Amino acid sequence: MSSGKLSDRFDYAGLLLAVTMFTASNFHAIAADTSSATADRAPRILIVYPYDERLVATTIAGEALRNRLIQATDSKIDVFSEFLDLSRFPEADHVTRMGPFLAEKYATRRPDVVVALGEESASFITKYRATIAPGATIVTAGFGNPTAQSNDLPDDVISAFSAYDILKTAEMARNLQPKARHLYIIGGSSDFDRGWLAAARFTLGDFSRSYETTYLEDLTIEEFVDRAAHIPSDSIILALTVFKDRAGRNFIPREAIRQIAATASAPIYGPYQTYIGYGVVGGNTVPFDTLGRTVGNLVIDVIAGKQVADVDAPQTYIVDARQLRRWGLSDRDLPTGTLQVNREKGFWEEHWLVAMGALAVLLIQAGVISILLFERRRRQRAESRSLLHLLEAVHLNQSATAGALSSSIAHELNQPLSAIRSNAEAASELLRSENPDLQLIQQILQDIQEDDQRASDIIGRMRGLLKKRSEIEWQEFDLNEVMSSAIRIIKGEAERRGITLNTTEPTIELPVRADKVHVQQVVLNLATNAMDAILDAGSSKRTLTFATGLTNQKAALCVADTGNGIPEERLSRVFDPFYTTKQAGTGLGLSIARAIIETYGGTIAAYNRPEGGAIFRVVLPLAGQKGEGS
Ligand code: ADP
Repeated sequence: MSSGKLSDRFDYAGLLLAVTMFTASNFHAIAADTSSATADRAPRILIVYPYDERLVATTIAGEALRNRLIQATDSKIDVFSEFLDLSRFPEADHVTRMGPFLAEKYATRRPDVVVALGEESASFITKYRATIAPGATIVTAGFGNPTAQSNDLPDDVISAFSAYDILKTAEMARNLQPKARHLYIIGGSSDFDRGWLAAARFTLGDFSRSYETTYLEDLTIEEFVDRAAHIPSDSIILALTVFKDRAGRNFIPREAIRQIAATASAPIYGPYQTYIGYGVVGGNTVPFDTLGRTVGNLVIDVIAGKQVADVDAPQTYIVDARQLRRWGLSDRDLPTGTLQVNREKGFWEEHWLVAMGALAVLLIQAGVISILLFERRRRQRAESRSLLHLLEAVHLNQSATAGALSSSIAHELNQPLSAIRSNAEAASELLRSENPDLQLIQQILQDIQEDDQRASDIIGRMRGLLKKRSEIEWQEFDLNEVMSSAIRIIKGEAERRGITLNTTEPTIELPVRADKVHVQQVVLNLATNAMDAILDAGSSKRTLTFATGLTNQKAALCVADTGNGIPEERLSRVFDPFYTTKQAGTGLGLSIARAIIETYGGTIAAYNRPEGGAIFRVVLPLAGQKGEGS
């Protein structure tokens, strides 16, 4: 016999008239000696299974019972199992041998509680209780109260009843198919099947009045299949059991139901958990594990010496989600708490861990991005603040340079102005003569114009030097040009100080991108420092040399002097702010020069020349290149 068949046998046991449910209220006082006997040792529980270990129904119930006991007693419990194997050994002799055998086996370990799963186990243990487990409490499970009564179980036997309520299954179907007009009830031809049909007729009496009701009975399996396939689609089909068909063929009920359901033209419902997966939508049932836990709770109370009474194991609605989908039924119409089997999880249910992970990563990423953005904004603000400070400093530096050069500039201006005055006087003199030489006067006026232009160039250069900038004026220009304009500015001062200016003729254009006035200021700073150094040295050789050229694909400008140079140990410090060796120095010129050059992605460095004197070298990226600092 297959395990499926065994499962059904357990499941269907005691089903007749189970529909008329009531709960026994006969309480059983458990002998006080049961608890006292277990005071100094772990309680002993014997679970008696009717068949063998392959019977899914009893195995699930038994395992749930064992787990419940172990959990409740913290493993301080001895659980024994006996499989009566009555399906394979149904002979009376076998039972007669098993009784004394178990009585002897448990002679030294008498159980305190015996749990009999299924009707056959219950009959067996009530027969042999005096020898196997004298004084033990008997708990039975896996059948309905009517079965208990028909088997005449002793009053002190406690039961966890499984009641299969076909009316509840029918009502569930009505909720799912409110538009159904027909009701079909399927039952087989065995005594059990017929009993079930009779019980259903009784229980569904009122319910079936709302439908055109047909009992499909006394049919062969082929007829069942054929009839079910031609049933109107607005029908509810209730499948009871088909242990046998009209032709006398035996079936495991769920196998028969599966054949019928395969081509049925309306949904089929049934009151057994074992029908799930066999083409049945579902129904109201007592799941095996729930039954096991219910028995477990009874046993725990028994061990604790509490008063216990018969209980009904909780019923559950169970449905196959695939069948709901097959028939277009909505799970919203199911009773609350219905257990859905084969339910495809929604995206969120299925992938919640991954989704949460992804969400967390996104949040972290978003957090990091905001921090970086915030940091960037902060940096940008800091950068623009420091640029403003630099522009301020450069302007002050320019003003200081202009101040330092003012006497030579005044001197420089003096030349064109004096020339203009002398030329103007000469022209008036000529005009006063009788025959003024107009050509000469013309020449004088032209000289005056040129001198005026010179004066205005000098003033223009000063203006450019003093112009205050609120932001960098980016432009592309030739570094040679800046060198020339710087030389023009300091030329007068150099002359005044008796310094010869040397420049190399530019051989190549050096296009750079920066603010021209800023770079010019750097050259002026280097030049004025060089002139200071030359004067300081007091040597007769007073030469200030400017040179430009290409170095490593970059534009370079050098300013060299014939001063005393920079002591080696101070070479690295000359660019530090406020580093000065001069009495009236500020120590800011070189630090500003470095800040300017670095702003445009360049470098500035100081060296000593082997022949004496210092040399400062500025390197800027050629326009179109990326600077070191950028
Ligand atoms: P300041 O000119 O106000 O002292 P700078 O920052 O321009 O400030 O220069 C810092 C110091 O670097 C100078 O005081 C001087 O000691 C040194 N220095 C700068 N240029 C030269 C040079 N060409 N030769 C020798 N020393 C120099």
